[in-house]
Amino acid sequence: MSATNFDIAIQGGGPVGLACAAWCLQKFPEAKIALLDRNPADDADLATADSRGVALSHGSKLLLDTINAWPTECADIHRVHISQAGRFGRALMTREELGQDALGHIIRYRDIHLTLRKALRDIQTNSPNFFWNHIDTQTNTSDIQAKCVVHAEGGLFKTQDWVESGRDYEQSALVGLVEVENATPHQAWERFTSEGPLAVLPSHYSPNILNLVWCGAPSSSQARLALSDADFLKSLQAEFGSRIGQFLKIQDRRLYELGLNYRKEITQGNEVWIGNAAQTLHPVAGQGLNLGLRDAYLLAEKLSALFSKSEDQKTPLAIENTLQNYAQSRKADRSATIGLIDFMARIFTSNLLPIVIGRGLALSALQWLPPIKTALARQMMFGRR
Ligand SMILES: Cc1cc2nc3c(=O)[nH]c(=O)nc-3n(C[C@H](O)[C@H](O)[C@H](O)COP(=O)(O)OP(=O)(O)OC[C@H]3O[C@@H](n4cnc5c(N)ncnc54)[C@H](O)[C@@H]3O)c2cc1C
Repeated sequence: MSATNFDIAIQGGGPVGLACAAWCLQKFPEAKIALLDRNPADDADLATADSRGVALSHGSKLLLDTINAWPTECADIHRVHISQAGRFGRALMTREELGQDALGHIIRYRDIHLTLRKALRDIQTNSPNFFWNHIDTQTNTSDIQAKCVVHAEGGLFKTQDWVESGRDYEQSALVGLVEVENATPHQAWERFTSEGPLAVLPSHYSPNILNLVWCGAPSSSQARLALSDADFLKSLQAEFGSRIGQFLKIQDRRLYELGLNYRKEITQGNEVWIGNAAQTLHPVAGQGLNLGLRDAYLLAEKLSALFSKSEDQKTPLAIENTLQNYAQSRKADRSATIGLIDFMARIFTSNLLPIVIGRGLALSALQWLPPIKTALARQMMFGRR
């Protein structure tokens, strides 16, 4: 099919754009959709792309299962141990107390991306009006006209060409894969250090190979990136302690700048923003992609319902109303998630004594007041409904 008039143009072929296209087509296979994707068409060209481990919630698994887009290489989290380095206060969350098979799942970003591409290709075979256009920054897309434009261009904090509301936490995340001596299988560790959260998360490789996300001041993170492997492991050991034995090996270190950037209004006329194009969060509780997938799912539901109607019903006003209705439906979940993550990112990076004490008390409360723990875990797993 050649470029022409479409009902929907989705800009961005990251996980959120792909998932949105797949859910729209699954619900309405005849939908006239153009996906503008800056990634190469050949999966082989993405094989060495972003390998950072991303935590997906059980809620995201249920959503992705509906389009057969759950990656096979995945590590389940059964317990999360939360503590403060050198201070009181700790909590343990287990899958048993929440009555779930897993508290979350760790998957490489590129596996989520590739699995969604495959799922969309499978759905594409029954979608005669779907046009997957691989473009680059020079491609002229002016011949693609669409009644509704979905922005899923994503991006990372400080690389986005829009800045609206938000906060620069003046933090970077150093990610990598570490090998340790003696990890408890399926356990994740979140440790709050004087510079920010340090997470050690399971990986699908083996129980002793773990994903590291170490947040700190940009200058310290940059310095850690430049350390020799031996010096890096020594400094990580000093910060994390000996709970999982010796840190033996580190590989694939990368840095990401962290902050909050979000749009107050996520629709304008016939345009709508989803995923990181709508909100970019601190990874402190691993919520960015989970929230983006919930955006994509609900938007696909609303758009497929509208565009499966007769032509005379797809008026500009009907499209605008549908998008406003979508924005209204996402309000509670977006505000709760953005607010909670911003609060966590701020209190877990402060060294002011009252906050440090309050943090210890909060962790103890979490440990000893199961209803609070369950409420928090449910928000992380399923969002606000
Ligand atoms: C260190 C770190 C750890 C994280 N950990 C977690 C976690 O544990 N759990 C979690 O849920 N989230 C996590 N996140 C957040 C998560 O990575 C993002 O929320 C998620 O990638 C957003 O997906 P997206 O599709 O909206 O955007 P992206 O992943 O950025 O994809 C957008 C795509 O659009 C393309 N694009 C850009 N501009 C255009 C254009 N003009 N036209 C067409 N295409 C375009 C890009 O090339 C890209 O492929 C983490 C983030 C960081 C930085």
